[in-house]
Amino acid sequence: MNSYKIAAVPGDGIGKEVIAAGVEVLQALADRDGGFKLDFESFDWGSDYYKKHGIMMPEDGRETLKKFDAIYFGAVGAPDVPDHITLWGLRLAICQPFDQYANVRPTRILPGIQGPLRNVEAKDLDWVIVRENSEGEYAGQGGRSHRGFPEEVATEVTIFTRAGVTRIMRFAFELARSRPRKLLTVVTKSNAQRHGMVMWDEIAAEVAQDYPDVTWDKMLVDAMTMRMTLKPGTLDTIVATNLHADILSDLAAALAGSLGIAPTANLNPERHFPSMFEPIHGSAFDITGKGIANPVGTFWTATMMLEHLGEKPAAERLMRAIERVTVDPSLHTPDLGGQATTRQVTDAVIAAIQGDN
Ligand code: ATP
Ligand code: MG
Repeated sequence: MNSYKIAAVPGDGIGKEVIAAGVEVLQALADRDGGFKLDFESFDWGSDYYKKHGIMMPEDGRETLKKFDAIYFGAVGAPDVPDHITLWGLRLAICQPFDQYANVRPTRILPGIQGPLRNVEAKDLDWVIVRENSEGEYAGQGGRSHRGFPEEVATEVTIFTRAGVTRIMRFAFELARSRPRKLLTVVTKSNAQRHGMVMWDEIAAEVAQDYPDVTWDKMLVDAMTMRMTLKPGTLDTIVATNLHADILSDLAAALAGSLGIAPTANLNPERHFPSMFEPIHGSAFDITGKGIANPVGTFWTATMMLEHLGEKPAAERLMRAIERVTVDPSLHTPDLGGQATTRQVTDAVIAAIQGDN
């Protein structure tokens, strides 16, 4: 029997609530399947840990994580700890050294969910956004001089490397090829930014030579927001820089109905290091402790983790269970306009797993 070691890092706020729900659902799934085993170990890293120890995770945290097959991550961020500390101290402290350069974000309107767009059915909005996750605008390079003086200057240096852009472009073309429509849109801002963004366009055209079966086009990021909103059915796989995809995927999540539903995977495609799976939402302290966080994004995330581990039938079983629950409005949490609790949604998904043939 295949057995996988999963590191659960719930983090902050509702991250703790949704990961607890996700672990329960995954255990129920493994029991139902009988063909594989999941060994969870949980780590209490995050803002509470920071307040006690002055760091978000222990110095040897990364060494510890290396021996796991995957990382199941909640959210980081707390009202009383600066965002750059929480983000760089935990999430990016895992993503960067583990070279999780491909951030994959499927977006779909699930059955029973009403997105904000009129006349858009589920079949018209089925995308995967690929976000470059290791360089670009979030390279962390730059600095400030003359702090506080009128002459103050701050630079935020964007770094694109040929190797970095080529690998994410190949990843995106491969993913596009694996989907029925074989359609890829490359997003840039090469009219206004004439170095890195032009290199993106050039590398896209070079890589495309190896994928004659994939239809591809280029879009400027500003025009892309309109196309996503007005002509969602013309899109399938999308690849964009760290910053652009960060913004576009929030738009995508909103168009699909709620931030609480959207999943993401931070992949190290070469599998030299563990990959990390998380819902795209944040710690959401406004609803923390109320028991009403939508766990669906965390469950959908689990399907991506199972696929990555090679347990595709289990991933499909979980997705069927999720859709059986979203279709019922009495099982919608308040972010979807309903009144259900995290507990009720979790129990319903577990029941759907147990009842699945
Ligand atoms: P970050 O700083 O990472 O953006 P955040 O705490 O601002 O985190 P977001 O993920 O941006 O949280 O979410 C914005 C709002 O959307 C939250 O404050 C919350 O009201 C709502 N929300 C987000 N995720 C969920 C969820 N899983 N269930 C219900 N509501 C959610
Ligand atoms: Mg936010």
